[in-house]
Amino acid sequence: MSRKTVIVPKGQRSRGREGSPWIFSNEIRMDQAAKALTPGALVNVRGEDGRSFGTGYFNPKSLIAVRLLAPDCDVAIDASFFATRLKRALALRDAIYDKPFYRLFHAEGDGVPGLVIDRFDDHLTVQIGTAGMERQIEAITAALEEVLEPKTIILRNDAPSRALEGLEPYVKAHKGEAKRIAVEENGTRYIADLSEGQKTGWYYDQRDNRAFIAPFAKGKSVLDAYSYTGGFGILAAKAGAKDVVCLDSSAPALAIAEESARLNGVRIKPVKADVFEELERLKAAGESFDIVLADPPPFVKSKKDLEPGAKAYRKLARLAAEVTAPGGVLMVASCSHNIPPERFAAECAQGLLRASRKAAMIRQAGAGPDHPVHPLLPESAYLKALVYALD
Ligand code: SAH
Repeated sequence: MSRKTVIVPKGQRSRGREGSPWIFSNEIRMDQAAKALTPGALVNVRGEDGRSFGTGYFNPKSLIAVRLLAPDCDVAIDASFFATRLKRALALRDAIYDKPFYRLFHAEGDGVPGLVIDRFDDHLTVQIGTAGMERQIEAITAALEEVLEPKTIILRNDAPSRALEGLEPYVKAHKGEAKRIAVEENGTRYIADLSEGQKTGWYYDQRDNRAFIAPFAKGKSVLDAYSYTGGFGILAAKAGAKDVVCLDSSAPALAIAEESARLNGVRIKPVKADVFEELERLKAAGESFDIVLADPPPFVKSKKDLEPGAKAYRKLARLAAEVTAPGGVLMVASCSHNIPPERFAAECAQGLLRASRKAAMIRQAGAGPDHPVHPLLPESAYLKALVYALD
């Protein structure tokens, strides 16, 4: 095999040596031969002593120089490799879910760094985040055909983070047509737009947190802030909430939320506004809700944003608590992998304190089990959701 070898110098501390699937550019010998490799090329990774780190793909342009795919060198990366990983991922999901609606592949957590696939029965949306995976599209789609024979495969390769890997953004249907479909989750049907919606069209990661909130909703008022297409709000309405406001800055997302509500025979009130501004307005108007949910986009996009991002979470927790009625329930979530869980919890605690609200934490959770976490890659546990019962 003509596969090139990337060397981890003797004595170099490397998370890869300790089992992480990531090897950083300052941990390898970045000589001329390494620099000359095509971004995304498959490589063997070895220590200077010859010890195998495994098979991975390499990108000289990225801070994460190698992402490991297998623990041995010279492992063939082809359709059969992906089919094996896919069958393993499917077996796990089949054991948990009774309907084929879930995240099918969650990157490093499922042994496929840089690759995310969401399944909506016969329709799949694929998100490729790295040059290494981009080069494997044919093998990936061949494996999907072999194992699942889906009707639709949409390549949602438009995440801004692709730029870090030198990749262009694009969205295209590899098979079938990009369209609106119905997602089934927690006994509820929602509409998702696979080609124009955000990310893969639907946020499966909050499924269990939505289910946790629903039983509190009967007869209550609910504010679903950063609602997107109403994942939390519509389930709360179905559970008997007396009124539900879905608050988001995206008009298309709110239009879908209204359609999904109709599909379920319930009503939601869509409000298009900036969440911080609307919370300030509600507070000034003396309005409150029995249940307040705040599931914002990532405030800490990179490590350097930690301090301003942490402050934004604190402020969000404060403002959200200020519009939560006495005896109400508040959820604050973060999908930033760059803020550690304990820091996020500390910021939320400060926010509650500044709102002068006594709170009991009744749930600390992450994403559901269709978002497996690599045990040696804490970054893969990105979602944090804290639920409080307020006095
Ligand atoms: N809770 C949703 C997912 C939220 S994703 C669910 O369960 O599916 C984050 C949402 O925040 C997106 O829909 C985005 O449109 C919205 N958003 C981003 N910035 C915003 C802002 N400043 N004010 C209001 N909404 C915002």
